[in-house]
Amino acid sequence: RAKAAGGNRYEMADDAADARAITRHSLTTALPAALERGEFFVEYQPLVRLGDGSVRGAEALVRWSHPQHGILGPDRFIPLAEHTGLIVPLGRWVLDQSVRQAREWQRLFGADEDVLRVNVNLSPCQLHHPRLVAETVEILERTGLEPGALCLEVTESALIGADDDLLKPLRRLAEMGVDIALDDFGTGYSNLANLRRLPVSVLKLDRSFTQGMQQFPADPVDLKIVEGIVSLAHSLDLAVTVEGVETGAQADQLRELGCDTAQGWYYARPGPADQVRALSLVDAASG
Ligand code: C2E
Ligand code: MG
Ligand code: MG
Ligand code: MG
Repeated sequence: RAKAAGGNRYEMADDAADARAITRHSLTTALPAALERGEFFVEYQPLVRLGDGSVRGAEALVRWSHPQHGILGPDRFIPLAEHTGLIVPLGRWVLDQSVRQAREWQRLFGADEDVLRVNVNLSPCQLHHPRLVAETVEILERTGLEPGALCLEVTESALIGADDDLLKPLRRLAEMGVDIALDDFGTGYSNLANLRRLPVSVLKLDRSFTQGMQQFPADPVDLKIVEGIVSLAHSLDLAVTVEGVETGAQADQLRELGCDTAQGWYYARPGPADQVRALSLVDAASG
């Protein structure tokens, strides 16, 4: 009996694996038409200054409104788009949307780049694409957004072992005034010495660090690690943003540890651009 049941379970697992493979395949082949039909949309999650709680900007996070499967998160389709190369036009579309949105916020709140900026994720394929710099410049010029209001997020793993050829476009963008953030910092092979040669101005501490602070009292070793990263970052003139802040206690702790900016459900979930606008209006009214 046990054996039969085991056999059944095995069959079920196999079916599930098949179903996942079929879904992956059908999602992959549906990607180009989905981009053409406008099935993708961007949500924005506010980034908040820990010092005074004001809105610093927002991270653009892409979603797919799939006609059969409903709303799909990026983890479901970004890897597929990276595999087929569709990430290049999709990423360009996200950048265009986000930059135009940031320009719109500036129309509402003033063009000071310190008012609201937008963070956009770049995948490794986009980094390798020869037209990244030209297209970014084209989008900024067409919309009239100053480069300092744009922050491009690149994961640490994308830059592992990056040679100068790969870093060149990022350097060009940084020289123009675009901020470059190292996303998911601390999850990979964090080569701290390597930080000095990367053209980054922001470290985004991965959610795993903030998760370690969920329990009370927080793990003292986690606190020491974050404290160390923050002091290293600041000594290299890098700002520190923390991801995944879910409670006020975490926010207090991270502020004490010297983190500059925070992002997470405690402040707001990713949502429509209007949410960022509404939160900024609250700021403007109280500040
Ligand atoms: P990420 O850049 O590290 O983005 C942060 C993720 O953490 C987002 O997941 C966000 O919804 C989630 N998050 C934010 N606050 C909290 C919190 O307090 N608690 C928890 N548990 N989660 C929180 P999301 O939207 O599913 O995006 C996942 C990843 O997909 C992103 O990770 C990013 O790497 C990638 N991604 C999203 N949009 C794009 C895009 O336009 N282009 C590329 N290349 N990648 C993208
Ligand atoms: Mg990101
Ligand atoms: Mg991140
Ligand atoms: Mg992350």
